[in-house]
Amino acid sequence: MMVDLVFEAPKTGKPPKHLLDMARPERRAAVQDLGLPAYRADQVSTHLLVHHEDDPGKWTDISATDRETLSSLLPQLLQPIRTVDCDDGATVKSLYRLHDGSLVESVLMRYSDRITMCISSQAGCGMNCPFCATGQAGLTRNLSTAEIVEQILAGARALDAGQVPGGPGRISNIVFMGMGEPLANYSAVLGALHRFVDDPPEGLGMSARGITVSTVGLVPRIRQLAQEGMPVTLAVSLHAPDDHLRDTLVPINTRWKVSEVLEAAWFYAEQTKRRVSIEYALIKDINDQRWRAELLGELLAGHLVHVNLIPLNPTPGSKWTASTPQAEAEFVAALREAGVAVTVRDTRGREIDGACGQLAAIES
Ligand code: SAH
Repeated sequence: MMVDLVFEAPKTGKPPKHLLDMARPERRAAVQDLGLPAYRADQVSTHLLVHHEDDPGKWTDISATDRETLSSLLPQLLQPIRTVDCDDGATVKSLYRLHDGSLVESVLMRYSDRITMCISSQAGCGMNCPFCATGQAGLTRNLSTAEIVEQILAGARALDAGQVPGGPGRISNIVFMGMGEPLANYSAVLGALHRFVDDPPEGLGMSARGITVSTVGLVPRIRQLAQEGMPVTLAVSLHAPDDHLRDTLVPINTRWKVSEVLEAAWFYAEQTKRRVSIEYALIKDINDQRWRAELLGELLAGHLVHVNLIPLNPTPGSKWTASTPQAEAEFVAALREAGVAVTVRDTRGREIDGACGQLAAIES
């Protein structure tokens, strides 16, 4: 079977280097290279990551001439194009233009007990899943670490400023479920994970358990991530328990089979002690049969795992639709009978094309 999988992103359009691309020692060295004392790097890090203050004019502990010198390490990476909201403002989708004209999106979702941001790791995606809007658009390029981190900082600034109904708040969860395949952009994503979990002012000091990396199943990369000492939650986009169907729904399956991706998932759970999440979009009459629920239950029972069922969000022109409520209920019941934990994902952001798999950035 011939499938179009793109692992290597085009090297063109590389974004300018930003201070937040670097870990603390490199930041200090970069600032010294500009002829400034190394502690200036820590001061800037505190402004950006602790106070979410991106206006150098407000950095009163740094002289105006030094701020001017530092500006070469602080290019503007994301140009906001527009935001749209729904759910009475509790779901906000932001569209950004990058320095080379590429477009990316992020979504902020406020719940009663948490604030989750869904972010992009690539402009487009090369994994070609037929039910996903981003997959249809193809891969433009990898995002840099700072381009990924800036999506979160923009959300944090909006929350600080009280722009999201419910008053000021803090981002508690981050999911790499926007555009792109995070494990196909491994080093930039790992850098972003460090910026999220490392102690302030080096990073934001978030808990790794609140961060989810979602993947189609790049098996060697799952094993590598398991050994980074960074116990983020792993989500595997399975969508079918059998190779025959998964070869079509998640074309990476032609490279690594269901059994291989699940073995890697169990290795991840063993190394990190974190429960792995299995993503399964329920598609009417395609993957929602009782026998598939039973087979899925057999494969997963007894493991440190949780199934997240997602009602399919049909993309424009899609011949597929979401399963009926009855099929969904039967699927849930079969998994529970097998002793597997399961929840059905809510579909925040549907009206603004901000729900799972809908981020395509077709507007310009
Ligand atoms: N590339 C990564 C992360 C991006 S997508 C991955 O595939 O895991 C995040 C989740 O949304 C994945 O589980 C993906 O399969 C799912 N998804 C994509 N399109 C969807 C759609 N139209 N309806 C429901 N879920 C979808």
